[in-house]
Amino acid sequence: MLTGSCLCRAIRYEVNIPITELRQCHCTDCQKVSGAGGTVNAWIASSAFRITHGEPRRFTKVADSGRTLHRFFCADCGSPIYSQREVMPEMMTLRAGTLDNAPPMKVVAHIWTASARPWAHIDPATQRFPGQPDAPAVKK
Ligand SMILES: [Zn+2]
Ligand SMILES: [Zn+2]
Repeated sequence: MLTGSCLCRAIRYEVNIPITELRQCHCTDCQKVSGAGGTVNAWIASSAFRITHGEPRRFTKVADSGRTLHRFFCADCGSPIYSQREVMPEMMTLRAGTLDNAPPMKVVAHIWTASARPWAHIDPATQRFPGQPDAPAVKK
């Protein structure tokens, strides 16, 4: 069982499946939301996730992909917790940095590399996608 929280711990959650693979997103929205180069996420089934304390606030915006995306965050401390596509509530994108513990996990793919900041480090050994990963990976 994995657990996680926001910075102030008003929002706490648990995940009942193992997470090993992460995806780093360099889209401009994730840059704004993180105040950094983007977000590092686990793509998991929403049924594996449960809020155990508090209630995240929701912010909704049309993403670079053209999809409507709900972003859930702590209204007190501002930590982003997860996001969900409006058309696919059965899956969610969990912000890996909010996990309390970090058993072996690895960034296996970078997405939206076309908008990556010049100072972003992108491991050439990972899969890279200029936009959404539905598109073929960039081979360099
Ligand atoms: Zn908080
Ligand atoms: Zn993003």
